[in-house]
Amino acid sequence: MKITDIIARPHTLTVDPAIAIRSSLGHHRVSRYVLVTVQTDAGIEGYGEATVMPVWSGETQESATAAIRDILAPALTGHDARDVSAALATMDRVIHGNPFTKAAVEMALLDAVGKSTGAPVWQLLGGRRRDTGIWLKMSIGAFAPDDAARVALYAKSHGLRGCKVKVGTDVAADLDRVAAVRDAVGPDFRVGVDANGGWCEAECVAALRGLERLGVNMIEQPLPRGGAEFRACARIRQRTHIPLMLDESIFTKEEALEAIRQDACDIVSIYPGKNGGMLRSLQIALLADAAGLECVIGSNLEWDLASSAMAQVAVAIPNLSERVDHDIIGTLYHRQPVTDPPLRIAEGRAWVPEGPGLGLKL
Ligand SMILES: [Mg+2]
Repeated sequence: MKITDIIARPHTLTVDPAIAIRSSLGHHRVSRYVLVTVQTDAGIEGYGEATVMPVWSGETQESATAAIRDILAPALTGHDARDVSAALATMDRVIHGNPFTKAAVEMALLDAVGKSTGAPVWQLLGGRRRDTGIWLKMSIGAFAPDDAARVALYAKSHGLRGCKVKVGTDVAADLDRVAAVRDAVGPDFRVGVDANGGWCEAECVAALRGLERLGVNMIEQPLPRGGAEFRACARIRQRTHIPLMLDESIFTKEEALEAIRQDACDIVSIYPGKNGGMLRSLQIALLADAAGLECVIGSNLEWDLASSAMAQVAVAIPNLSERVDHDIIGTLYHRQPVTDPPLRIAEGRAWVPEGPGLGLKL
């Protein structure tokens, strides 16, 4: 099954303004992503999505479209679509970085392979380890306390059992926001925080007692990424029982290995876009599992195809966290689906689509 062409199409959707995310990385109002189609000589097409945001990985809609059109499609045309690992190696050879762009092509390849064999992608990743409904948590922007509480209640009314609140601005304002959410949802709802690297070590330490009092179940990415944060994160972990999760700090397996070596986290956030594909998310999950760490599925506000890819990984890894829920939530933020049927979210969970490949049609 030879690749005959790879087509990248820019596509733009607005985010529901009532819940659009504001964090220490900025305000996410519009999603300017890229849809990818891999065509094969077997007549089978595979679909993928490059969920690109410049503040996250340096990739843009224009850069991803050009990279696929000018570099990746010429390099991969003629390759066997079933040799997915070899395709990843080829992509690494012809362009550095660009994980979300490479993940989109890998997604489309695994979709095509699944369709050609009748297997859902999770079977290609080693098979299912749990049922196909993945528990979600809402991501609540760094809003004024009343607005944060409103979004938390929206999440609860949609059957979710948890949320994470964006912090990393000013510690006092951060704690007021988390307190308003806790007041609104009551003691049993799961509440975590995500600083997106917006704190320094002293600010995070200053927030710890307040976060403990508010029953926070996870602190995500307290310090800015770059490698120097691992030792500081290890020190923070000595001062609190709240599990610490790293997201922006861990894109690659090498970064995961270094975080493990330095005891920098309890939980590793993974997802195919950030990691450069589902196979690499799986690889990082297995590395984390060997070190006794759990994984949570993070998010860049994906559409349906990349959300399916996240759910396929979630059911296949051994160490999916049960104490912290997952961020397969992008489709809640975009009112228009890009697939028919859309990814199903019901009863607080994202459901892995049935059917071969990613199980969704463009
Ligand atoms: Mg995050």
